[in-house]
Amino acid sequence: MLADHRIASIETSRVSTRYPRNVGRNARIGNHGTGFDTTAVIVRTDAGASGWGVVEGSLDGADAVVGRPLLDVFDPAAGVTDTAALPLDFALHDLAATILDVPAHTLLGGLGESEVTTYSGAIYFDDLDPDDAPRGLEAVLANCAEDWAAGFRAFKLKIGRGNRWMETEAGFARDVEVTRAVREAYPDARLLVDANNGFSPERTIRFLTAVADCDLFWVEEPFQEEADGLRLLRDHLASTGSRTLVADGEFEPDEPQLLELAAAGLLDVLLMDVVSYGLTAWRRIMPTLAELGVAASPHAWGMPLKTLYAAQMAAGLGNVLTVEGVPGRTEGADTSAYALTDGVLAVPDAPGFAIPLTAPVTTDAVAR
Ligand SMILES: [Mg+2]
Repeated sequence: MLADHRIASIETSRVSTRYPRNVGRNARIGNHGTGFDTTAVIVRTDAGASGWGVVEGSLDGADAVVGRPLLDVFDPAAGVTDTAALPLDFALHDLAATILDVPAHTLLGGLGESEVTTYSGAIYFDDLDPDDAPRGLEAVLANCAEDWAAGFRAFKLKIGRGNRWMETEAGFARDVEVTRAVREAYPDARLLVDANNGFSPERTIRFLTAVADCDLFWVEEPFQEEADGLRLLRDHLASTGSRTLVADGEFEPDEPQLLELAAAGLLDVLLMDVVSYGLTAWRRIMPTLAELGVAASPHAWGMPLKTLYAAQMAAGLGNVLTVEGVPGRTEGADTSAYALTDGVLAVPDAPGFAIPLTAPVTTDAVAR
């Protein structure tokens, strides 16, 4: 019973993301590297239960919840109910589901499928690296081959090389060349493209025209979302009979604006981040999106753990179209309960998020 638990301590640890290769640039930012460390937070109760989750922001103020009954700060039907506990969003969901002895996706409502399609989100501008001897197209194709071998059957290609890294027209031509080459090499793969806001509406339409026969699943963040540009894009897609979807809302999401654009029929998929937007926020907004007929695909780039969280959301909340896959492994957490086979990620039925933390507590308790 959740009512029997009072929060006794909050501790931290570190988990490490390791990519299978260096991940290069996208339209907006430079080299992404080979991995990084992230804070994990562990919440324990006075009855001996514990849960943990990753934290991307600050834990400041979270110590205020120590000593309080779990149900004072967490409602199993909604998530975190006290803003002081928001950094504990994933830890508290893991804790509550563990106490209730149910998978996280069951706690979330069990509204989706427990097998979800996932795509590799790791196809960056590696053709441009290294600076002194760029590897070209072959580098991108090699990355696709590596991720295919890891079980992915869909790729999201970064586009927008002309935004910062190449001369505008040469960058555009490379974007088209890469997209066409991957389509040719993988005729049956689902292909998505992501410009990280590096295009204009006009350039987006020009790009989609140039790859019209590549059957793109979606175009992501073509430009900073605004109604006029999205309307141009919509009209183009409708007039050409294209079934390519428009996905946005990852970068600095403005929730009221996104809902307005969604209600106007200008967006098909919303992409707010799994962790920084948060599970509680996703639980709040998902019924509205479902009512509007707009799907979700929580942004998961950065950490393989975020892919697993997004898959739990897909299985729990439903209305998640597909899940962003982050190739690689996590040191400090056991992710072996999740399996990726033929492009499908199977969400386990074990309690909580089913990701045992194996990293030691590395700092003094935040609060006891
Ligand atoms: Mg993106």
